Order: sequence, then C-alpha cells, then structure tokens
Amino acid sequence: MTAPKPSAMAMVPFVSVENMMKIVNEIGVGEVIAQIADYVQEDFERWEIFDKTARIPSHSEEGVIELMPTSDGETYGFKYVNGHPANMARGFQTVTAFGMLARVDNGYPVMFSEMTVLTALRTAATSVMAAKFLAPKNSKVMAMIGAGAQSEFQATGFQKVIGIEEVRLYDIDPKATEKAASNLAGSGLRIVKCKTSEDAVSGADIITTCTADKQYATILTDNMVGAGVHINAIGGDCPGKTELHKDILLRSDIFVEYPPQTWVEGEIQQLDNDHPITELWKVITGVEKGRKDAQQITLFDSVGFATEDFSALRYIRDQLENYPFYQDLDMIADPDDPRDLFGMVKRAKG
Ligand code: NAD
Repeated sequence: MTAPKPSAMAMVPFVSVENMMKIVNEIGVGEVIAQIADYVQEDFERWEIFDKTARIPSHSEEGVIELMPTSDGETYGFKYVNGHPANMARGFQTVTAFGMLARVDNGYPVMFSEMTVLTALRTAATSVMAAKFLAPKNSKVMAMIGAGAQSEFQATGFQKVIGIEEVRLYDIDPKATEKAASNLAGSGLRIVKCKTSEDAVSGADIITTCTADKQYATILTDNMVGAGVHINAIGGDCPGKTELHKDILLRSDIFVEYPPQTWVEGEIQQLDNDHPITELWKVITGVEKGRKDAQQITLFDSVGFATEDFSALRYIRDQLENYPFYQDLDMIADPDDPRDLFGMVKRAKG
C-alpha cells in the first residue's frame, strides 16, 4: 500500500450502507460474491502469514457482540459484529457489522466500512470458495434451510460460482420462504418452496443450513443426509448454538476455518476434541485433500473467521478506485506539529 500524502492523512474513506449498495449494484451481486471469493481464497493461500486469533466475544442472554481482528503484516483489520437471534422478531437484523483497515507501519486507518451487507457477501463468498473444493462435481441442486438475511446471497453465490440451477427453500416461517422466493425471482434459478426440511433436502447435492436460534437445534437429522452430499453449515456459530445432529458429524469429513475458534463455536463443539478435522487452508494449498470420492459426505463447519472479513474489506478498498462511492471522514486528529495536540484544540476555539 503506498503511503498517503501528509495533507490527505487525516481523512479516512468511509463506505456507508448506501455507498456499499451502489458499489454492489454497479458490479452485480453474483459478480461481487465471485470476486470476493477470489480474495478470500488468496488470503487462505497465504494463511500462515496472518496474525490469527479466535474472535473476542461478549455474550449476553440475548446474543453476542464480537471483535474480529487480524493482520497480514502490512495491513491490519477488524470487524465489529453482533449476533442476536431474537432481533428479527423485534424488527432488528440478527447480524449487523462494521469494520476497518489500517496501515501496520504507522497505525493510521485507511478505510472504514459498513459490514452488514458486506458480511452477507463475504459469508456467501467463503461458502462458495469452500464448495469449489468440497462439493460434488456438477452440483445442480441446493437445499437452503433458513431463508433469512443471508439466504439469497448464498443462493446467488452458489448459482454464479458453482453452477447451481435449483434452490429448494425451507424456513419454519413461511413468510421468510416467500420473501426469499420473491427476491430470487428472475435470477434464472429454479426456486422450489418446501413445506418441510425433509422435502428441501430431497435430491440436493448441497445442503446449506442458515438458521438462527441460540440453542442446540437439530435442523438436519442423520437420516436426511445421503451419501455424497456437501453440507454448508453456516448458522451454528456460537457456544451452545448448533444446527446438525451429532450423528451427521460422525459420518462426515469435516472442514473448518480456524480450529481454536471452531472448537468453541462450530458444530464440532458437540464432538470429543481429538475428533479428526481438516483445516480448509490446507485443502486450498494442496497439503490435504478436499473431496476424495462421490460417496463422501463433506461438511464445511463455517463460523466465519477474521481473515474472510479482511479479504472482503481489501476487496472493497480496491474497488474505491473505479467506484469512488465513499465519504471522507475526519477521523484522525492531525496537528501540524504532531506534539501539539493541545495547541490544535486551543486554536480551534478561534
Ligand atoms: P435471520 O434471522 O435473518 O434468518 C434466520 C432464519 O432462520 C429465519 O428466517 C428463521 O425463521 C429461520 N429458522 C430458525 N429456526 C429454523 C428452523 N428450525 N428451521 C428452518 N428455519 C429456521 O439470520 P441470518 O442473518 O440469515 O443468519 C442466519 C444464521 O447464520 C445466524 O445464526 C448467524 O449468526 C449465522 N451467520 C453465520 C455466518 C458465518 O460466517 N458462518 C455469517 C453470517 C451469519
């Protein structure tokens, strides 16, 4: 990253929700997901250089607020994100987020961004990036269980990158199913509205579970998962919040982002801590195998890791050159004499 000119140092680009939507609509949702997937993959390929730490949660009865920091040695980034399953019924989003990038060499922020929309895009991007290595070849049908905020992004990403042609939607709330079906109308996807999760998974090559409930839920039972399926489990992402019956985990080859975080937050919190799991970055760099045969059940136990947000923020930062949809924020106090912070305040009084 080139150093900004001293005169510009105090101003930090900020991508608002409105501007994020402009960027996404200029490029196209599916294309943005595909492009972020490339950035996510690039960062998984250089996994070992990242400063990695499990996210820092603050739990409450209602949900969780988390900080997700990481650095590649040149750029530092973090995301603030919440997860409140009861929010939707109260008219709030389950997940909202914002984040930033900063220069490591002087600590100055280089970009702030909304990340509620960006999280949905990066989660879909990470799911499809993992599916490229784990899903059965020529997957055409995906079951989508949970038709909330993330669901259409997932469906759009899988259509664009994996070539999914049919999405079988199921949500306990039929209004959510209707919303997702209506948003996806005209996308070219064949949308099947299902009355049960059993119906949704029938004939599916890929099963995405994306529900929100702060409990050990059983969205899928063992008898619903046939040989050869890829499970993209993204909803279970907190201690005490899972979606799959343990027996499914015992039959699957399990792939995870950052084990110290996934053991606490993922589906694998249900397993003994010596159960074999594979780190996704090792599959992406060719150290370990992803899908080995057509009978294997692969499970991406996704919880969302800081490097994925870093990749998404990097992507947005790079887009600002061609799509200058941002505002400059006066975020950094920048006295002419760096030691004269007090004098700057005094002079501002006039
Ligand atoms: P949301 O509240 O908008 O949607 C969740 C949907 O799940 C709702 O429509 C709800 O009716 C449905 N649901 C709940 N229980 C169900 C059940 N038993 N069967 C079928 N449907 C059910 O939430 P969202 O923003 O779409 O997020 C979904 C989940 O994904 C959350 O738990 C969130 O924390 C998680 N998430 C994970 C990642 C990741 O990287 N892994 C990223 C973002 C969100």
